[in-house]
Amino acid sequence: MQTENLVLGAYIVAAVLFVLALAGLSKHERAREGNNFGIIGMVIALAATVWLSLSRAADPLVTIALIVVALLIGAAIGLWRARVVEMTQMPELVAMLHSFVGLAAVLVGYTSHLEMADHGSGDTVHAVEIFLGIFIGAVTFTGSIVAYLKLSAKMKSAPLMLPARHWLNLVAVLVSVGLMFWYVSSLSVVPLALMTVISLAFGWHLVASIGGGDMPVVVSMLNSYSGWAAAAAGFMLSNDLLIVTGALVGASGAILSYIMCRAMNRSFISVIAGGFGQEIAISADTDYGEHREITAEGAADLLKQARSVVITPGYGMAVAQAQYPVAELTKKLRDKGVKVRFGIHPVAGRLPGHMNVLLAEAKVPYDIVLEMDEINDDLADTDVVLVIGANDTVNPAAMDDPTSPIAGMPVLRVWEAHDVIVFKRSMAVGYAGVQNPLFFRENTQMLFGDAKERVEDIVRAL
Ligand code: NDP
Repeated sequence: MQTENLVLGAYIVAAVLFVLALAGLSKHERAREGNNFGIIGMVIALAATVWLSLSRAADPLVTIALIVVALLIGAAIGLWRARVVEMTQMPELVAMLHSFVGLAAVLVGYTSHLEMADHGSGDTVHAVEIFLGIFIGAVTFTGSIVAYLKLSAKMKSAPLMLPARHWLNLVAVLVSVGLMFWYVSSLSVVPLALMTVISLAFGWHLVASIGGGDMPVVVSMLNSYSGWAAAAAGFMLSNDLLIVTGALVGASGAILSYIMCRAMNRSFISVIAGGFGQEIAISADTDYGEHREITAEGAADLLKQARSVVITPGYGMAVAQAQYPVAELTKKLRDKGVKVRFGIHPVAGRLPGHMNVLLAEAKVPYDIVLEMDEINDDLADTDVVLVIGANDTVNPAAMDDPTSPIAGMPVLRVWEAHDVIVFKRSMAVGYAGVQNPLFFRENTQMLFGDAKERVEDIVRAL
């Protein structure tokens, strides 16, 4: 009893540390601190859980041996993946990790069912917990695998459009509800197994019918599901910490999905309902006029005369790994007395916060990295805007063209600045597949080539 009370105390401390970790991670300045809180919380949670299972084990030696082997294998794979993964592959790694949470919830569900069957009886609430835990876990498992396959281009990213697909989903849910009543009244493994097969197929179909363009939102949605799956596992195991942690992950994933949808002007329901990420028709016949080009030396001359500069980075900065020369350029300009700031669109790159992480990595001071809403009104008073590998997030068509696929998406109004220099390799379209009229504006000049090389050229010329 005393051990259980101590473990409960440790769980409460860990839960508080997890809340502090989330609070810290929501601000750049405190992100490192937040991470440390999370690490300490996880160490306490793991140590308490191992202690608890040892105190209950029939043969502690076998239990500790199994735990050590599992920890070693898990830690080795985790360390290896974390070291080799590229920043641009982060979403697919996260998707793969979610599938493990889903699978774990399914396994915990079946173990709880077997324990209940051993006792020969069980209460209704526990049976519902087991059923829901397995359902959410199985949907998360296959859904995350499809998301991983789509993001890593191992599966076609176009949405799977089965006829009557919404009906298929509805029937799957209704049949599962019926099976739940059967399971609760009989505690037989048959409805549980039938539901598992249906929910595995449901999870697969749900994500397969969403287009690649919406996949990052789906990953964040699956993040939320994986949290609820963990919370369900917590109920099955009567583990308070798992319930709290699962709820934290579930709620934060849902909030993140909402933020991403809002920043892309997509409705959450339309993303989940799927099938909206079809290829967008590109109006190739629109004549936007001629674009102008500039050299790195020309760009350096413009920057030398500027008093204020805003840099708006995008996915191309991540691909080129241009954040280090960008940080160097920022320092050089600031040393010359130029006011340099960054304008970050909420969905620049491929994950929310993608650009913030890259700039922090290159040690760009936090106080000059501003959100879109903080910088947009200042752009008209800016001498030069450097658009480094961004495209959709600076597309005026989102505001001017109601027929554009990105119409209504909030964008950085970079064209209001005196001069705009766009760094990219070609006139190719951005992620949403639409042409960008910004490139043809009178005050815009294109600086073609790899963003890292071009920024290095400018630093040299300065
Ligand atoms: P985009 O993805 O629209 O465009 C990136 C641009 O970078 C391309 O036009 C490409 O042009 C250029 N580029 C690529 N590689 C290089 C390189 N090595 N050097 C220089 N330029 C390069 O970028 P944004 O960041 O503006 O927009 C993000 C998009 O992703 C939005 O559509 C957003 O909705 C979407 N999205 C973002 C999510 C998020 O959470 N951040 C989630 C889901 C979707 P070129 O090939 O000519 O070089």
